Amino acid sequence: MPQKTSDTPMMQQYMAIKKEYPDAFLFYRIGDFYELFYDDAIKGAQILELTLTSRSHSAVDPIPMCGMPHHAVQNYIDILIEKGYKVAICEQMEDPRLAKGMVKREVIQLITPGTVTDSNVTEAKSNNYLTALVMTKNNEFGFAYTDLSTGELKTSCLESSEAVINEVVNLQSKEIVVDPSVSDDIQEQFKKLNIMVSHQDKIEVKSELSYLTQALTKPAEKTVVETLLTYITVTQKRSLAHLQKAVAYEPSYYLRMDHYSKYNLELTRSIRTGKKQGTLLWLLDETRTAMGGRLLKRWLDRPLIRKKEIEDRQTKVAELLDHYFERSSLQEELVKVYDLERLAGRVAFGNVNGRDLIQLKTSLRQIPKIKHVLGELDDKVFGSMLAKLDPVEDIADLIERAIVDEPPISVTEGNVIKDGYNEQLDSYRDAMTNGKKWMAELQASERKATGIKNLKVGYNKVFGYYIEITKSNLSAVPEGRYERKQTLTNAERFITPALKEKESLILEAEEKSTTLEYDLFSKIREQIKQVIDRLQKLAQQVATLDVLQSFAVVSENYHFVKPKLIKNHSIDIVGGRHPVVEKVMGRQSYVPNDVKMPEDVDILLITGPNMSGKSTYMRQLALTVVLAQMGCFVPADSATLPIFDQIFTRIGAADDLIAGQSTFMVEMQEANRAIQNATPQSLILFDEIGRGTATYDGMAIAQAIIEFVHNHVHAKTLFSTHYHELTALDKTLNKLKNVHVGAVEKDGDLVFLHKMEDGPADKSYGIHVAKLAGMPKELLSRADKILKQLEIQNKDTDQVITNEVQGDSNEEPTKKDKGTSQSGEKSEIDEQLALFKTEPVDPENAEVVAQIRNLNLMSMTPMDVMNQLYKWQKKLGNK
Ligand code: ADP
Ligand code: MG
Repeated sequence: MPQKTSDTPMMQQYMAIKKEYPDAFLFYRIGDFYELFYDDAIKGAQILELTLTSRSHSAVDPIPMCGMPHHAVQNYIDILIEKGYKVAICEQMEDPRLAKGMVKREVIQLITPGTVTDSNVTEAKSNNYLTALVMTKNNEFGFAYTDLSTGELKTSCLESSEAVINEVVNLQSKEIVVDPSVSDDIQEQFKKLNIMVSHQDKIEVKSELSYLTQALTKPAEKTVVETLLTYITVTQKRSLAHLQKAVAYEPSYYLRMDHYSKYNLELTRSIRTGKKQGTLLWLLDETRTAMGGRLLKRWLDRPLIRKKEIEDRQTKVAELLDHYFERSSLQEELVKVYDLERLAGRVAFGNVNGRDLIQLKTSLRQIPKIKHVLGELDDKVFGSMLAKLDPVEDIADLIERAIVDEPPISVTEGNVIKDGYNEQLDSYRDAMTNGKKWMAELQASERKATGIKNLKVGYNKVFGYYIEITKSNLSAVPEGRYERKQTLTNAERFITPALKEKESLILEAEEKSTTLEYDLFSKIREQIKQVIDRLQKLAQQVATLDVLQSFAVVSENYHFVKPKLIKNHSIDIVGGRHPVVEKVMGRQSYVPNDVKMPEDVDILLITGPNMSGKSTYMRQLALTVVLAQMGCFVPADSATLPIFDQIFTRIGAADDLIAGQSTFMVEMQEANRAIQNATPQSLILFDEIGRGTATYDGMAIAQAIIEFVHNHVHAKTLFSTHYHELTALDKTLNKLKNVHVGAVEKDGDLVFLHKMEDGPADKSYGIHVAKLAGMPKELLSRADKILKQLEIQNKDTDQVITNEVQGDSNEEPTKKDKGTSQSGEKSEIDEQLALFKTEPVDPENAEVVAQIRNLNLMSMTPMDVMNQLYKWQKKLGNK
């Protein structure tokens, strides 16, 4: 009976290894190929578009198989990682020609979405963060993250799973490592967000990495960093010398925004496309280095809250802004600085090549030039930065002496080390050159001796050196002069003992020289490894400088001004703009607007027609705050701002562009988050809240939210609404002010002025917008008629509301409590519901009407209201 394929020693070995990596594609090296077997092969062939074959077709149990040549493997790995899979690379650990029995094989690296470092997956200007989470017994969430390509390592203790998810989404992490303390429920939430959950149950931190956690004091932070380090060690199996000491951070040391808010404000990703184009990051990115680009993104993710730190950045931006020529030279020098952070990472991993070292040298040589430029600027501003810029000259000199200017990609095939760097290498090279000279002389002398003009001394890998003579000249070769070696179609190749002797000298020198070159290269790499932390510190300084000059460039190009940060809680922006909208539409067309919110104004209630600029105005303020707290200048003629602790934004469900998110429930959840977490130092943007449900329902909720924020939260709040009726609230809420976006009618057409003016809008212009949209004339005039009728019908009730409100306007603060009326008095809501009276009530529906009338909306949740509405609808529909 034939042996089963699965029983062969090789497949046994495969199975044993595969068992340890059940959730990864196992790339199993056989000779020059990586092979996939079984399910990996079936799935892999499909995803990677490879031909599915089988091992031992004729056997009883052919095994599905597909493969790819080793030199093309990176592409295939990238595809799988991008699709969210893991790949285990299994190599032959000994030379198959020398192996006794089965060739030894081992997995040398497990590549996962959070740990890829060398591929197109990791873009130059973004980080690839691997995150980790553990829970302690007292319900603290230990959280950590690292970027393996740069060595950044941070940790924090967070108070809720929501906060963790917020961080993970903000960091755009593709993979999170958890230990068994993390509940299935939380793991599920990550999976729903398309984040890979990897498990690390035990902690085994190698002693040489233990210093990384030394500075940590909280147990949760220590545990989570150790879990993360263990996972990296187990999967990467390579040197991690570039990992930086773990730094603990407090989210509350920064301006906090949840990821919904960041998303809504389009800080780094466009809502429509998910890309950088059209975002604040896109506008701000005038960085010249990859490190600067990444740091800019980090600053944008975490604006500051400490005045001194913000002002420190501001002064530097101002200095750079004032010195155009210095700034230009600075940019020219920065462009030539390569990605020092990632180069340092590759030095640690041991996969730098000669070209990388040349890049490192070029970068380091830029530092003295950068220092020279900074020296021209105010010493008080840039002095300390100047002192910190370490050009790491010893390493630059070493590379200069040792590495040729244009080295090959490979580090194992020679031609990397310069002549004169090592005596031994020079002597091998002499031997090679002499040998080759000898060959040239041989060719000349043999031509002379035989009279064959096209006699040639050549070399190939299989036969070594030979003398080649074309068939037509063979008769001219004296008998016994050469030994025949190989016959070609129209030539013969010969050798002589002297030739072979010289050949072995040359080849020996060549082999020794490449081995020695690799040795020397490895030693240089080790030397550089010793200064990784200096390189990383330098990278940080260069990145900082790059972002600051980028701020200066942007501030100049787009006419930004330095904002004044003040202690008291008032906002005064003159001529403010939305920088991205302005950039897209052009400076000429954009209408600047003021934001005036002195201490006695907490809420701006913004009304105005659709498409008039309400949302833009609100976002403009939020972006201005973010820019100011990043230390950048802001798009305005002048700006005075307090420092905010948090920003909340909620865009009404009807305006929400993300499919699947547009439910009223999500709208209410987010509004709730803002109301529950905001402080008087926060900024809230509520854009058309309540639009996601029926009119009166929505209006009731909107009003209640405004009142609650006004009476209990005291955050600076912008509330835009198309519920005209809400503008009457300024009579009862003394810290609320009405503003509206102006529009004028010109020859029956509506022209938006995009200009904010005091007071409420006079009407809502819906029909005009319908006209702008090109609706048929007949339809529009019909709508006009209906509107006029409705206005006449509603006149009485409108009167009632205004009258009542006006009557109470002197005793403002208590008004609201009275509004909910336990005393049997009619509340405002009741009054507004009286609008229904304008239609005669069908006696059969009287019961429903009575119920509506008696409903205490203020004590109901949105869900209660939904349920109640559903019941009524059923009741009415059943008739
Ligand atoms: P709304 O929220 O009131 O419906 P948006 O804020 O969405 O209106 O603005 C609608 C459009 O009006 C924007 O896309 C922009 O093109 C234009 N716009 C808004 N504000 C301005 C402004 N200040 N100056 C010029 N155009 C503006
Ligand atoms: Mg809007």
